[in-house]
Amino acid sequence: MKSPLICPNRSLLPRAKGARQAFLSRALTRLYPNAECALEYVGDPFRLLVMARLSAQCTDRRVNEISPALFARFPDAAAFAAAEQAELERYIFSTGMYREKARQLIAMARKLLSDFGGEVPSTQKELLSLPGVGTKIANLMLGDVFGQPAIVADTHMIRLSRRWGFCDSADQHKVEAALEKVTPRADRADFCHRAVLFGREYCRAQNPACDTCPLFLSEEV
Ligand code: SF4
Repeated sequence: MKSPLICPNRSLLPRAKGARQAFLSRALTRLYPNAECALEYVGDPFRLLVMARLSAQCTDRRVNEISPALFARFPDAAAFAAAEQAELERYIFSTGMYREKARQLIAMARKLLSDFGGEVPSTQKELLSLPGVGTKIANLMLGDVFGQPAIVADTHMIRLSRRWGFCDSADQHKVEAALEKVTPRADRADFCHRAVLFGREYCRAQNPACDTCPLFLSEEV
C-alpha cells in the first residue's frame, strides 16, 4: 500500500471522534509509554526553540546530530545574537534553508534579548512575536517547556489526522482546531508526540505498515 489517504482499518475505530481519540491515545501510550520530544534539547528551552526552527524541512535526527557542535559554539541567546551569519550558516548548513534559518535565528535571539531578558517567553502571543516562530513551534514550547495544553500539527500529525478521520484538510491550523475539539487538554502534548513517533515508525507517508499495524493488534479492538 503506497500512501492511503484514509486508514484501511478505520472501520475498527470508534465512530465518535472523542472516543476515537481516546482509543488511539490508549493504543499509542501502550506503544510509546514515554511521550518524549524527539529533539534532544537537554531541558534547555532556548535549545528547543532553536532546534524546532532548524527542524523545518529537515529531520529531527539531523538536527540532533548538528546540535552539540552548534551549542558548544553558540550556547545561548546572547551568543546567537552576536553571531556572524556566515559562521552560523556553516554550523546549520546540513539542515537546509540555512541562510533563512541563520538570519531568523539571529533575529530571534536579538528579540529575546531586547524584549524578554534573554529568556524564552511562556505565552503563545509572546512566542509568536519571535522571528521564525509560528504556531507549531509556539505550541511545542507551550506543551513541552511550560506544561500547557497544546496541539502540535506537524507533517506527521496532519497526515495521521486525515487517515484517522479527524480532519480532511492539510491546513495546519484546521488540524490544530479539529484535534483541540476531541483531545482532552491534559493529553494534547503527549498525544501529538506519540502520534509523531507512530507516524515515523509505522504510519509512514509512503508504504505504511497497515498489514501489521500495532494499533489494531490489541485485544481491545
Ligand atoms: S499504519 Fe495503521 S493507523 Fe496508519 S493507515 Fe495503516 S492501519 Fe491505519
